[in-house]
Amino acid sequence: MEPVTETEKIDSFSECPICLDFLSQGTLCTLPCRHEFHRECVEELRKHGVLQACPLCRAALPDGPEKIFEDATRMYVSMRRKVGSGKASWHTLTTSQKKLMTEVVVMYTTAANQGHALAQGSLGVLYNYGEGVSRDFEEAARWTQKAAEQENVESQFNLGVLYSNGTGVSQDLELAARWTRKAADQGLSNAQNALAFMYRDGKGVPQDYKKGAKWARKAADQGHANAQFFLGILYRDGIGVSQDHAKAAQWTHKAADLEFADAQFNLSVMYRDGIGVSRDFKEAVRWLRKAADQQFADALYSLGIMYRDGLGVPQDLKKMLRWFLKAAEQGHAEAQFNLGVMYRDGIGVSQDLKKMVQWVRKAADQGCSQAQYTLGLSYLKGEGVSEDHKEGTRLIQKAADQGNANAQQALVMVSQHAQLLGKFQNR
Ligand SMILES: [Zn+2]
Ligand SMILES: [Zn+2]
Repeated sequence: MEPVTETEKIDSFSECPICLDFLSQGTLCTLPCRHEFHRECVEELRKHGVLQACPLCRAALPDGPEKIFEDATRMYVSMRRKVGSGKASWHTLTTSQKKLMTEVVVMYTTAANQGHALAQGSLGVLYNYGEGVSRDFEEAARWTQKAAEQENVESQFNLGVLYSNGTGVSQDLELAARWTRKAADQGLSNAQNALAFMYRDGKGVPQDYKKGAKWARKAADQGHANAQFFLGILYRDGIGVSQDHAKAAQWTHKAADLEFADAQFNLSVMYRDGIGVSRDFKEAVRWLRKAADQQFADALYSLGIMYRDGLGVPQDLKKMLRWFLKAAEQGHAEAQFNLGVMYRDGIGVSQDLKKMVQWVRKAADQGCSQAQYTLGLSYLKGEGVSEDHKEGTRLIQKAADQGNANAQQALVMVSQHAQLLGKFQNR
């Protein structure tokens, strides 16, 4: 038989030299000599002890892929632990660490070439994150795909993510959904959660809130915080499930207990408004503080509101200001606008029109129409900025286009004013 050259591609018509069936029917095993067989056929020969060499070229057989994979994984896990504890970084490996990781990659590749699914999946991860190898998304996708086709559940989920983001492959939302579903069907909670959001957004699947809720429930039952949070919203709003505020609160509570900041914030709103729980401002503040500890901007802002209105805490404008400032620094538009208003009116701070403009502008840049209107007025009046009618009108128009009623009213007045001026000038 002709030896296979290195450049020769695997084509689906070539046969396994051991069983003479097509190589495409089964998992491929490529030996280090580059000869190709079915993985099962090589294993069968190994089991019978007749073969210590490639049947074609007699090159010595490598260890079985299982042993190579285990040895490589032991080395990889010890490296991962070093990186995880901050004792090493994938970007700045020492010479000996690099050598070790190169060995890991060689071993994984040898096992992966022999058709070992977990080795293929691990190689996919190494190439995807650049752990011990140069980052290479195409290689990552290629190995992840091989492992996914062998029903490796993590790889099926990872492949879904690659297709969803177009990383190493052309973006394809339908393929993303198909692989995510395979992993979800195998019970992987991350995949079930991702699939729930695909159904919500109609990404790669027809939009279907009921199916979204079904998959969120499966992941939530496994303790997936994001899915529990999502399920809480579905029950709260009656989307894909019958509205049930008590269930909404229960699921939101579970996610909040898992330190999921969005859920902690939503739970605080439920306690503030008495949705699915008895109204309790103190409890609302307690959950807001937990979310605020995670720098969740909505929570920082809402804590300010609680201090402004004296809900669950004694009213305290200084503390309100402190929380608004924290939220504004996190880019919270409403907080930025309110902070501007406080500087304008001198509430809790000394009046400062320059600072007013600075904060209101940040909110206006984020598309907050009330801020655009307020900043527009500042330009018209020359408050905190040099008077500029053109810029003022432009900003007020922008706010009016967004349906801001104050801005629409102001525009009418500005144009009447201009008409009057015109009449005078024409005289
Ligand atoms: Zn075969
Ligand atoms: Zn060979």
